[in-house]
Amino acid sequence: MTPMNEVTTINREQRAYSDAAKKFLARKPQLFINNEWVDSSHGATLDVEDPSSGKIVGQVVDASDRDVDRAVAAARAAFDDGRWSGLAPMAREKIMHRLADLLEAATDDFAELEAIDNGKPKGMAGAVDVPGAVSQIRFMAGWASKINGEVIQPYTIPDGAFFSYTRKEPVGVCAQIVPWNFPLLMACLKIAPALAAGCTIVLKPAEQTSLTALRLADLIAEAGFPAGVVNIITGNGHTAGDRMVKHPDVDKIAFTGSTEIGKLINRNATATMKHVTLELGGKSPVVIMPDVDIAVAAPGAAGAIFFNSGQVCIAGSRLFAHRSIFDQVIEGVAEASAFWTPRASLDPEAHAGPLVSKEQFDRVLGYIEAGKRDGASVAVGGGAAEAPGGGYYVNPTVLVDVNPQMSVVREEIFGPVVVAQRFDDLDEVAKAANDTCFGLGAGIWTKDVGTMHKLASKIKSGTVWGNCHAVIDTALPFGGYKESGIGREQGRQGIEAYLETKSVIIQL
Ligand code: ADP
Repeated sequence: MTPMNEVTTINREQRAYSDAAKKFLARKPQLFINNEWVDSSHGATLDVEDPSSGKIVGQVVDASDRDVDRAVAAARAAFDDGRWSGLAPMAREKIMHRLADLLEAATDDFAELEAIDNGKPKGMAGAVDVPGAVSQIRFMAGWASKINGEVIQPYTIPDGAFFSYTRKEPVGVCAQIVPWNFPLLMACLKIAPALAAGCTIVLKPAEQTSLTALRLADLIAEAGFPAGVVNIITGNGHTAGDRMVKHPDVDKIAFTGSTEIGKLINRNATATMKHVTLELGGKSPVVIMPDVDIAVAAPGAAGAIFFNSGQVCIAGSRLFAHRSIFDQVIEGVAEASAFWTPRASLDPEAHAGPLVSKEQFDRVLGYIEAGKRDGASVAVGGGAAEAPGGGYYVNPTVLVDVNPQMSVVREEIFGPVVVAQRFDDLDEVAKAANDTCFGLGAGIWTKDVGTMHKLASKIKSGTVWGNCHAVIDTALPFGGYKESGIGREQGRQGIEAYLETKSVIIQL
């Protein structure tokens, strides 16, 4: 079986860019420090590549150590003199809402830049990424006015002799490092709680996808944030990112990316005992019980893996379907995969785009080949899609006849590849679902409410979805068990991650 759309040839030529995008791409590569666009200390740049065509379409700065130091110094000064944390919470909230309004008004611009830079369809970026980014800022803006300590009665001291309480204080200068799969959304998910808490920021987008973070800088200046509160630098992870992580004037690191780099960052941050939150990889199970409506669950399972071409940390990359319905589920996923056939990111008909880079394309195809070598059978897709004009298109792929020893079953592929397995009972599938070093998300499809709750409690992951997948809401904490991360983002816990707690004990 192959995706049905492959029967007809798809034109994967990238479409023309808007004048606004062309103008943005033609800008001189610069960094955003102290609310100003500044030159790098050296002339090094990184290419901006459009993965829909493989063409180089612009340049951004590859920040030097001196650039990083300059950005950190700006954030440090802005934090230490209280120009942001010292504002009334209402004033902080108002500026954040202004940023959200500006971003919302520019949805189309941001969606196009994201499509050009990352390869995701412009329609998806406009419907998912930009509104998601806006809601992160709006939700956290409200928290600026709800950060409270508490009065606590001491345990060993009689009442009235002392007055003691806790204060919640911003943690300080935050280095925030984000990945390439949801560049704008991740950037806003990171800056929003830090801003609400009163922290200052140096943000670095991934080297593959810097455009929307740079465009966001324009809006940050326009919204009225004091200088130095948000600084945005572009550059390589192993140089600029590493410098941020090790910098003595940085108080907290917030990172989203691979488990491998997350572990490295955690080790590097220890020398100066920085606060660290890490949102890392996953290999999320999707469990389909025999009582489901397959016409609903199978497209749900397809969307769980093929949305964003599988480049999602919570992608449902391990499908477990009950033995009695396994073949029908695979048939249903195969049919639904046609919807996710990759097209150029500015094609209005696209629901999925190319992978972000040649490196990722090679990596994903390498996994598919390894799966085949190890004995897996290809039920759907199984390789690259035709793209004579260039670009990194991989067809939605379903592998069956797999076993738990295969790399395709154990490792995060970060592409449109799902491995499908059969199961017989609840305990067996719970055990198999947990047989991974990751624990980020899980999907359960059943009409039986008892089964839903039982399985939700058995699966070790930061989020469990019932009869849906990858529904992310800014009010709900998000993070990982096991090697999928440390700490939680979003919700009340998301703001707590940017606060210190101080106890004050006063003898009366
Ligand atoms: P992926 O595997 O998804 O490409 P990475 O974990 O390599 O993701 O990268 C995610 C982010 O981490 C990017 O912004 C990248 O620049 C940054 N990064 C990579 N290596 C380091 C490092 N050694 N120190 C700090 N940041 C890094």
